[in-house]
Amino acid sequence: ALYGESRRNSRGVNMNILSEWLPLKDELDKWWDARWTGAPLVNGKRLEGEVRAVMCPYELSHQVGEVVWASADQTRAAIDDLSGAFVRWNATPVDERAAILERAADKLEEHMPELMALCTREAGKLLQDGIDEVREAVDFCRFYAMQARQRFATITLPGPTGESNELYLQGRGVFACISPWNFPLAIFLGQVSAALVCGNTVVAKPAEQTSLVAVRCVELMHEAGLPGDVLALLPGDGAQVGSVITSDPRIAGVAFTGSTQTAHVINRALAARNGAIAPMIAETGGQNAMIVDSTALPEQVVNDVVSSAFQSAGQRCSALRVLFVQEDIAERVIELLKGAMAELHVGDPARRDTDVGPVIDADARDGLLKHVREMKQAGCLIAETPVPESLNGHFVAPVAFRLDSINELSDEHFGPILHVVTWRARDLDKIIDDINATGFGLTLGVHSRNEDTAEHIDARVRIGNVYINRNQIGAVVGVQPFGGQGLSGTGPKAGGPHYLLRFVTERTRTINT
Ligand code: NAP
Repeated sequence: ALYGESRRNSRGVNMNILSEWLPLKDELDKWWDARWTGAPLVNGKRLEGEVRAVMCPYELSHQVGEVVWASADQTRAAIDDLSGAFVRWNATPVDERAAILERAADKLEEHMPELMALCTREAGKLLQDGIDEVREAVDFCRFYAMQARQRFATITLPGPTGESNELYLQGRGVFACISPWNFPLAIFLGQVSAALVCGNTVVAKPAEQTSLVAVRCVELMHEAGLPGDVLALLPGDGAQVGSVITSDPRIAGVAFTGSTQTAHVINRALAARNGAIAPMIAETGGQNAMIVDSTALPEQVVNDVVSSAFQSAGQRCSALRVLFVQEDIAERVIELLKGAMAELHVGDPARRDTDVGPVIDADARDGLLKHVREMKQAGCLIAETPVPESLNGHFVAPVAFRLDSINELSDEHFGPILHVVTWRARDLDKIIDDINATGFGLTLGVHSRNEDTAEHIDARVRIGNVYINRNQIGAVVGVQPFGGQGLSGTGPKAGGPHYLLRFVTERTRTINT
């Protein structure tokens, strides 16, 4: 109850979003019944082909729109065109490329209500998540534009008399950007904007569940002045369109965000080609933990656990999957957790009193519910938030289970499922070793008022993003550069100062004067 009251007014309205959402309400309302259409965009034109209906994940009878899927031939032809456009785009001054990204950011802000509505309708995003999504996409554009202006400055190097030496950066060629559905605008545009500003031409393959968001994004980039022939968008099936792209020897690099399994498939496809040895940036899954010791404040812990595990219906790569809580405070934390979960509202993501919306599709729901059934059969249930029977969508109840060890989980369960392990003081190093032994290394939360404990954990874990005494989601561009290690990714970190460097080649120019 404590938790619920702190976030809601007397009518159950989630107060967090009111100030941001209210000014947009009238504009946003115009978009709820819109019907969007999408198609492959090559040379700035829509292509024709097989049409697929796009259905809403939380109102199953509602058609959001339709999208044309790209064929293998269209994909190969698009790569031809992008190869032809590369030299010109790569020679375009970096200031000009950066300015286009900045204008694209302005366009996104102008179209915030439409993009929010589309993120909700197509991806089931909550209103606040929609606002955050557009903002993150805007931040990526402006941040990478700023970074490119700084990084692309020519460096003058020493040399003997009569010789000048310079070092400068260039694009690599045609870069493939392959993105997931869970951040259909921010991750999509983060990859694409980074590759473009470095002088690469880009073939982009969005997740099939969220092609319409990607289509609107590319259209807005063209309106912002991006030439039609430097970015081709190819909606379609990952195994088909995706594999045509990654097996093409002309692809000079791949930026991929998605599951670890798909990253392995792409890595093998790149290695099997006869073309250039192309770099792959992979940002993949996690088995994210939070370690809570007996000095932590249970109320704050539960607040951060609930947002980390259940916000966005647990469909964030950073989301908390396994909570390790020291036995001295475990019962108190679990009691508060049960109370907090009872206060969550599962429902229509377009309503402002909803905390947890749908998962993306029926396959995702069925996979999650299989794990839920198995855990219940094993007698591990701690708490489950009810899902109203009136809902007609792909909903999964937020649920918490007891677990003996993180080693019992072999897969990432990409939804609102939390596992709780209790530990004794002498076992701290063992749980750190267990977390490392998963091979994943994306996010870790730590709750402790003992600085030595927090430092000890931080020093021993192999994790990309460690969050101490706060929740472990919502990395901000330029503030918390994001990305994991091991099975969770290759680096460099998205939204960080080293990201662009993986999209470029370095040229040394020596002139005998
Ligand atoms: P996914 O199934 O791996 O798909 C990601 C993208 O890869 C989609 O566009 C997909 O196309 C495409 N794809 C599938 N097979 C392919 C192939 N053989 N060749 C080339 N492309 C192929 O992942 P998802 O379900 O969309 O996203 C959820 C996963 O992403 C989770 O594991 C999550 O942890 C991870 N993620 C990681 C981060 C991070 O920053 N570390 C961020 C967000 C999400 P189709 O849609 O057509 O299959």
